[in-house]
Amino acid sequence: MTKFSDLALDPRVLKAISEAGYETPTPIQAQAIPHALQGKDVLGIAQTGTGKTASFTLPMITLLGQGRARARMPRSLVLAPTRELAAQVAENFDVYAKHTKLTKALLIGGVSFGEQDKLIDRGVDVLIATPGRLLDHFERGKLLLNGVQIMVVDEADRMLDMGFIPDIERIFSLTPFTRQTFFFSATMAPEIERITNTFLSGAVKIEVARQATASETIEQQLIALTPSRRDRSFTEKRAVLRELIKAEGEACTNAIIFCNRKMDVDVVAKSLKSHGFNAAPIHGDLDQSVRMKTLDGFRDGSLHLLVASDVAARGLDIPAVSHVFNFDVPTHPEDYVHRIGRTGRAGRQGKAYTIATPSDDKYVGQIESLIKKPIPRGQTPAIEIREGAPDRPERSERRPSSRDRGEKRPRPVADHGREASREPFRPTETVEAVEPVREERPREERPREERSRESRPREDRSRSGERRSDSRSDNRRDQRREDAPVVGMGDHMPDFLLRSFAPASSE
Ligand code: AMP
Repeated sequence: MTKFSDLALDPRVLKAISEAGYETPTPIQAQAIPHALQGKDVLGIAQTGTGKTASFTLPMITLLGQGRARARMPRSLVLAPTRELAAQVAENFDVYAKHTKLTKALLIGGVSFGEQDKLIDRGVDVLIATPGRLLDHFERGKLLLNGVQIMVVDEADRMLDMGFIPDIERIFSLTPFTRQTFFFSATMAPEIERITNTFLSGAVKIEVARQATASETIEQQLIALTPSRRDRSFTEKRAVLRELIKAEGEACTNAIIFCNRKMDVDVVAKSLKSHGFNAAPIHGDLDQSVRMKTLDGFRDGSLHLLVASDVAARGLDIPAVSHVFNFDVPTHPEDYVHRIGRTGRAGRQGKAYTIATPSDDKYVGQIESLIKKPIPRGQTPAIEIREGAPDRPERSERRPSSRDRGEKRPRPVADHGREASREPFRPTETVEAVEPVREERPREERPREERSRESRPREDRSRSGERRSDSRSDNRRDQRREDAPVVGMGDHMPDFLLRSFAPASSE
């Protein structure tokens, strides 16, 4: 078996690896590092948890070992889709480069431009950034990208989801074509394939097992819940969640609880806290310092339950999570794989519970066809049913009638888990599917095109000849529509409301 010492890494890097306690490279490291050290472009198809960060950081540090940074001209560039992922790469860099004199700067939203400018002015070897923030610095004339020798694009499929691909293309075109490129993505969507064909040359393609196939150590259970009333679904799901956590007892050393909507992340965290659980939320609306503090607490064990949205938790490296609870069934089946992949890592045992109401049937079906097997049905815990106000009066659900109020009676919830192992999971007529809102990201983390479009009138855009009918712009429009806050319209803004009725101004 290959050892790190067999790879031609800088001895200072080898020392840092050994101090970090690693001896054997992971498959992506063993395959990527030798090619990277020979100066080749690398296309890695791998997810978080495979050791991919070190697979580009270690050769990068080795290759940059010689030479010095020049003012405002970083020698290498790492692009990550979110602040947390960028910060995580920066932490990795600090660990592996600690015996070298290489310098780095982290360009992410939520940090003042002034501080970041100072670092760049002095000259850095490695610049780690989110695409929007990087282009902001570039356009302010504070940064030159023509000294970039190595460029890394991490989590490209997430960049695609978040609408960052035009930014990435622009950044590629601002760096010298002689640069070496490391490009990582968990999947190869056609758009990603196109970019790699355009910007990588003679790349060595390395594919490591998807987490979906490596997840034998994760015990999955679907907990079916038919709410006593459709407007009590949210409340009853919270009660089921508490029972599931309690039932796990000591075995649940720490857990991530995923919600589809960021506003639910807050409510679920608050509710858990009020019931005596040690829980905190993480989502894109929280201040960067709060997000970092919460994550640190979760990593060091002082926080037991992390309630998260997909975007906030994506790709975060939290090594030992014993449990994942899907408070909501994810509406994108790949998110299920990502979510449950937070547990059972590195050969450890993990448990993933998913609470599903009958309205989730469609999404459960999609997940099961993606993972190519049914999710085993678990026993639904009994909860106390309180007949009170609806759990979300602000939604389009009905207000409580006088009959609904005040009364309290215990009633076990029907065990659909056992039923479901014999019968297909079927929706009932009474429960209405509520389409989730995609998480809104802080403005500076959104793609630049999206940001500049926001500040331009619509008719202006169509006059400027932008193509609106291709699937990319449609995707972006959909993303924008999903990101836009909707007030008083339920979860969907009808398409016609997004059109401008203003007459074209006379020129
Ligand atoms: P990543 O996929 O880069 O997010 O890494 C996942 C986790 O694996 C991180 O906690 C790394 O510190 C850890 N890791 C990276 N390389 C190795 C290795 N060779 N052996 C054991 N753990 C590693």
